[in-house]
This record gives sequence, structure tokens and C-alpha cells, in this order.
Amino acid sequence: MNIVITGAPGSGKGTFSNRIKDVYNLEHISTGDIFRENISKQTPLGVEAKKYMDEGHLVPDELVDRMVLATLDTLPEGKDGYLLDGYPRTLEQAQAFDRMTQGTSLHADKILYLDVPHEVLTKRIIGRRTCPDCGEIYNIYFKPAKQEGTCDACGAALTARADDNPESFATRLHEYDDLTQPVIRFYEDQNKVSVINANQGFDEIWNEIVRALQA
Ligand code: AMP
Repeated sequence: MNIVITGAPGSGKGTFSNRIKDVYNLEHISTGDIFRENISKQTPLGVEAKKYMDEGHLVPDELVDRMVLATLDTLPEGKDGYLLDGYPRTLEQAQAFDRMTQGTSLHADKILYLDVPHEVLTKRIIGRRTCPDCGEIYNIYFKPAKQEGTCDACGAALTARADDNPESFATRLHEYDDLTQPVIRFYEDQNKVSVINANQGFDEIWNEIVRALQA
């Protein structure tokens, strides 16, 4: 099964992707993570993407499309599909991706849309902390680490993402509304979208996701 997970920044894509990929044996492909990895290794892709990301802007479509296809081309064996997180994020990306994967085993089967009101998103993002070593995600308001600043799972020092500040978040949310809502409508026309109410407890959200994936 090939799944696209979408939602505004702070809607829980990262948290639920971690669970979905394990339970459904999917290769998790997060375009944001790939860019961050390239930035930390200072690759040419990273240097180019950083200019946009630091200001909260989207990286140009052409750069992202190429990167996603290259990643899908080298999917590891033994997985039951992919979980694409953070892509497609514009109508042009969705159309390009649909065209490029049409009639192949890489075509998207389901789109999970994590729906959360804007005011909740802001608090989630400003409080977000991530473990750079094991990827565990925390929030100083909603899911604090047992010892502040330290990962419960592996003991590494937690970090805040460079783009999780109020100014860049406002830009990302605005850009999300303008650019990504048309992606959801594009997939709604194909009857592939499941809207998940992601403004409830973890277990309730998870149950909705499981029901959507079983449908
Ligand atoms: P994320 O971790 O998904 O919130 O992505 C972080 C940042 O990476 C975004 O704000 C964009 O600058 C960039 N990015 C990730 N995915 C895409 C995409 N599909 N299209 C354009 N930019 C992206």
C-alpha cells in the first residue's frame, strides 16, 4: 500500500508516520527530513534548499520532484509500499507525481489528511522538540520529555528545528493554506482522501487512521 500523509505543519505527520510505517511495514519518505539531512551534510542540494527553508518557504517544485523520484527509485526490498510525508505539497507537484507514477507500482493509493485548527497548530509547533539521534518527537506543552531537554528513549539532547519559530511558522501556515489545499482537492477528485480529525488524543487519532487504511 502506498500512502501520502498530508496536513499543515504541526498536524502530527511526523508522529503518526513513525507509527504507520512500523505497523504497515512501509518505507517512510519525509522530504523535509531528506532536506535537513542534506543541509547538515552541506551537499549541493542542501545548500540550495536551505535558502528557502530557513525563511519558511517551499523549495522549488523541480528540485523536490527530482529528489522524490530518485528516492523512490531506490526503495529498499521487503517493504509493503511507501509512506510519503511532506510531498506532494503543491498542485504542480501532485500532477507531476501522478503523471510520473501512473500505471506503476509507485502510484499513490490513499491520502491521509490530518486536519487540525490553526490556533492549535501554532502551540504545537512553537513547543516542538525533536531527538536528532532516534527521531522521537516531544512537545514542551503537550508531550514533555521526563527530563527537560533530554530524549527519554536514547538520552540525546533534544533540539528545536531552525524553522520552528513564530515568524517562519506563520509563513509556512499561510503557504500551506494557499498551496497544499489544492493538492487535497486534486486527490479528493480521485476519491482517495481520508480526512482524519487530528485534534484529539493520540489513541483516538490512531483508531481513525487504522479505520481509514482498512477501508
Ligand atoms: P517539513 O519537515 O515537511 O515541515 O518540511 C520542512 C521544509 O522543507 C518546508 O518548509 C519546505 O521548505 C521544505 N520542503 C519539504 N517538503 C517539500 C515539498 N514537497 N515541496 C517544497 N518544499 C518542501
